[in-house]
Amino acid sequence: MMSIGRRVGFADMTAMSEIDEIGINQNLNVRYNSDIIYTYTGSILLAVNPYKTINIFNKQTISEYHMCKLGDLSPHVFAVAEAAYTSIVDDNINQACVISGESGAGKTESTKFILQYLCTITSNVSSWVQQQILEANTILEAFGNAKTTRNDNSSRFGKFMQVCFDDNNCIKGCVILDYLLEQSRITFQSVGERNYHIMYQLVAQGQKNIGIAKSFHLRPPEFYKYLNTSNSEKINMNIESKKFDAVTMAFTVLQIPQFVIDGVFKVLSSILWLGNIEFIDVDGEVTDFSRSDQEAISIISNLLGLSRCDFKNVLLIRQINVRGNITEIPLKIKEALENRHALAKALYSKTFTWLVSKINNCTNPGQDDAKFLGVLDIFGFENFSHNSFEQLCINYTNEKLHKFFNHYVFALEQSIYEHEGIHFNHVEFTDNTPCLELLEKPPRCVFKLLTEQCHMPKGSDSAFLSNMHTEFESHLNYIKGSDRRHWKTEFGIKHYAGLVIYAVGGFVEKNRDVQQDVMFEYMSCSKDVFIKDLSKYQDIQFINSSYPRGSSKSKCTVSDNFRHQLQSLIDVLQNTKPWYVRCIKPNLQKRPNNYNSSLVLDQLKYLGVVDIIRIRREGFPIHFSHEDFEVKYKCLIKNKSFEHPQKYLTNILEKSGMPPTEWQIGKTKIFLRNAAYELLETNRKDK
Ligand code: ATP
Ligand code: MG
Repeated sequence: MMSIGRRVGFADMTAMSEIDEIGINQNLNVRYNSDIIYTYTGSILLAVNPYKTINIFNKQTISEYHMCKLGDLSPHVFAVAEAAYTSIVDDNINQACVISGESGAGKTESTKFILQYLCTITSNVSSWVQQQILEANTILEAFGNAKTTRNDNSSRFGKFMQVCFDDNNCIKGCVILDYLLEQSRITFQSVGERNYHIMYQLVAQGQKNIGIAKSFHLRPPEFYKYLNTSNSEKINMNIESKKFDAVTMAFTVLQIPQFVIDGVFKVLSSILWLGNIEFIDVDGEVTDFSRSDQEAISIISNLLGLSRCDFKNVLLIRQINVRGNITEIPLKIKEALENRHALAKALYSKTFTWLVSKINNCTNPGQDDAKFLGVLDIFGFENFSHNSFEQLCINYTNEKLHKFFNHYVFALEQSIYEHEGIHFNHVEFTDNTPCLELLEKPPRCVFKLLTEQCHMPKGSDSAFLSNMHTEFESHLNYIKGSDRRHWKTEFGIKHYAGLVIYAVGGFVEKNRDVQQDVMFEYMSCSKDVFIKDLSKYQDIQFINSSYPRGSSKSKCTVSDNFRHQLQSLIDVLQNTKPWYVRCIKPNLQKRPNNYNSSLVLDQLKYLGVVDIIRIRREGFPIHFSHEDFEVKYKCLIKNKSFEHPQKYLTNILEKSGMPPTEWQIGKTKIFLRNAAYELLETNRKDK
């Protein structure tokens, strides 16, 4: 037995006699204290973040788990990866590993372990594709992750990585879908947080390499406002510059040409310079550039290949289309400052989605019907002291995934039992359908009312709020605010994971699709080939969307796009065999050997772990059709001539020596508990 196979507590909690939250929590705690971070509940894996290196992720461990059934060895994320892979091979069905947990719980690390596992076991002489898949992560993390108070390497976007397989079950590529990159971080970071990693990496490289500094007009990190909006934490130039090298290396592996890489860095540098423009107020109505802004203007127009004049227009004037006539209105200083932030965010997020599409161009096997194993690494439920539009989108995602999870684990299971007429105790679970309907069900729901405001020229947060208060007053999942004094600024949603109070300020603006069309139009005439290309890029996920783009009335809002993206994700998941990895964060200090029971308890509730254990124990996790069962196990009995097929099946089961509590025969299916299935399998293999 391997060292990680030590018996501490219960490796599978469905075997525990005590199944309340306290028992589960103690079990996880005992195992964690012995550095055993993984525990099963049936086939669902719980992973407690150790915040230290544990030597169970090496090549040798991978080979130990390869070809082993889930449950044969101690719980491990490799075992889940192996089980999903085996199911692709044996059952020919697409698979999805859904990884959940709050920020810092270990979702991204788990995702990487699964990819590393798949790449290793399928690796052959030409491991180029595998290399590209792993390096894609290097780029995504540099551009999409940042230091937050909760996680030094926090993913600020969601992703679904579909690893595709050919007919010989070898990896032949990968398709990445990205979700909702956090944009506010580009222009503002709270105390103790940072901008996206790549910004520091590029600036650090500029400090080291004069050629780079010159080409991209880079200055030291202290120079940039966008890198110093809160505290100015000391940046370790050496580390950042090494990471920069890793990113350029990854670009090479993904066959991104040098002029494109340079183009990306030009955009990043432009964004940083944009943050330094100060503007001056001319007469309360018109805004102009300050003397010191001139340098930034000429550098940015140079980097983006635009004429200075065009670029100035973008920053100082707004174009309004009134029945086909374009009118130009000068921006007031406050508007100009805001418009500049919006521009920076639009440039960054466009570059990000464009990068994802370039990675896909390289790794996509180009065959829509390829089998895939998808890994979903997406933001967990959030409830802060101040919650805004971003939290609503994140929590909405979690409601959707929770419903999917419920549907998979509970509803589906129970409806099958009922349909098959077998005896089964009804298990209660929190059905979150009403909450989802409040958020997304037309004609009147939170997102519809929000979009309605965004389409009105004078739409406002307060009108949105008062419409909601009127519309949803009696909805059981809605409250008007934390107390009467806040009814004019807040609303509350009772999510499956708890009540969240949202501050309405900024919702309408954040949801408006500020695409900066004028800027991108000018960019389409850029002298730089990459910038030109970037300006024309439209996210394929939205082009295919059924929502029409273009006319301002029907223009998609951020939440429209997001809802649509999320629905297609759920549609994909619905056609896969799901595997769940629930990640748990043991403490808020990011420290090893520190288990905070009450913090874990909260997460066990969010993750629905108690419910999982109940249903697994009370239910019959393994199902066979009568025919399949007969074909597979008829070798276990001698007398094969029963008149009644039911009798035949009963005979097989009774002969196996299992008590009848372990199996049931339904109208069309046979239901087994794990122990029964394992016994049958052992008997069959012994034959
Ligand atoms: P976010 O939602 O913020 O992206 P996350 O769930 O993706 O959070 P990770 O970035 O995967 O969290 O993990 C946070 C940190 O915890 C990692 O940077 C690493 O330091 C540590 N960590 C996570 N899993 C492990 C592990 N298996 N072994 C050692 N350290 C780990
Ligand atoms: Mg992450």
